[in-house]
Amino acid sequence: MITAIAPCTRPMTASLAIANRLAEIQPSPTLAIASLAATLKQAGRPILNLSIGEPDFDTPTFIREAAREAMERGLTRYTPAAGTPSLREAIQAKFRKDNQLDYPVTSILVTPGAKYALYALTQCLLNPGDRVVIIAPYWVSYPDIIRLSGAECHILQTDATDRYAIDIDALDASLKPPTRLLILNSPGNPTGVHYPRSQLDAIGSVVRRHPQIVIVTDDLYEKILWQGLPFLNLAMVCPDLVDRCVVINGVSKSHAMTGWRIGYAAAPPALIQAMADFQSHTVSNANSIAQAAAEAALSGDSSSIDQMVAAYHARHDYLVPRLNELNGIRVQPADGTFYAFADCRPHLGLNPAISDDQALACDLLERTGIAVVPGSAFGAPGHLRLSYATDDQTLEIAVSRLQEYFS
Ligand code: PMP
Ligand code: GLU
Repeated sequence: MITAIAPCTRPMTASLAIANRLAEIQPSPTLAIASLAATLKQAGRPILNLSIGEPDFDTPTFIREAAREAMERGLTRYTPAAGTPSLREAIQAKFRKDNQLDYPVTSILVTPGAKYALYALTQCLLNPGDRVVIIAPYWVSYPDIIRLSGAECHILQTDATDRYAIDIDALDASLKPPTRLLILNSPGNPTGVHYPRSQLDAIGSVVRRHPQIVIVTDDLYEKILWQGLPFLNLAMVCPDLVDRCVVINGVSKSHAMTGWRIGYAAAPPALIQAMADFQSHTVSNANSIAQAAAEAALSGDSSSIDQMVAAYHARHDYLVPRLNELNGIRVQPADGTFYAFADCRPHLGLNPAISDDQALACDLLERTGIAVVPGSAFGAPGHLRLSYATDDQTLEIAVSRLQEYFS
């Protein structure tokens, strides 16, 4: 019987007492559920894993070849903490070409995954007592990464009925001191919604009134947008705010490279230098072979991205209408990513054992073998996140089991 998805107890003895700042930190729920699903599968259970947001495609061949070549060329040593000069130049060129953003190389930092870019940024920018505004539903790691810096989260709720648009007056009120940072994520995990130009313009006019605010734009799903939608972020729409933006991106999702751990950040050189110094004392540098592979990914042919995005789009168009046909379930169609975020509130409390999304996700896993992430992990209780970064057959079987479960 599965009763809890994310383990949350840490046995302690006096000698092994864990530091206070870890007190509220939970394991990443997405990684914890994926690991539970893998364990159950290994034990012979017929598990359909719709939990983790991780491309099901292999890293394209030309990128793997670049890594092989890098090893042969002996690129097996430490690199500069901020990343190899040639990868930083490739990222600079990517920003010019895709985003019309013209950064000097000293504005670019290569990190071990986009997650570490966020961690390094919050460690370098925030003091205990500072506040960070995040928009719910949010990616699961934001609150814990923020808490690790001693800062506090202020959460702004948004709603599916207006496509998760930010209430601009509420945003204005939330940006007063001690707020230092606002995190934006578009296309967003878990909603899949991409902010239109009008929304970014409105956010821009509010942050102009609060000069102490730095804005993170987490662009990890930039490439996973359905055809016809041009990608935009705050720095692109409001060029006067570029020096107050930290753009975070990476190759994990765009190039199916989650395990290679390469992300990057662009920001004013003084902040990037602080983050590079922080990185030099914590992880030294991102993996040298993976940096060579990421350089090939960013400089190479983008047709493999187009093929993967076409597959995610087709799966979205298959899955979302079928979820909306399920009794009492509501899902907003997405603009991109590979997530469907399902409002399941009508199903809670019907059975006293299933009073919240965590219990619903456990019951679903127990009775159907489908692993999903409870919405409360994203600040949206009563929802479930289904990742369709999985093959079509798994998705079809999952749909038929869901039809039976929710009938
Ligand atoms: N931002 C968002 C919105 C994400 O979903 C993720 C998860 N992959 C990350 C950042 C971190 O990505 P990475 O694998 O590059 O650390
Ligand atoms: N970002 C992915 C997800 O939301 C990967 C797991 C993680 O880093 O949290 O599932």
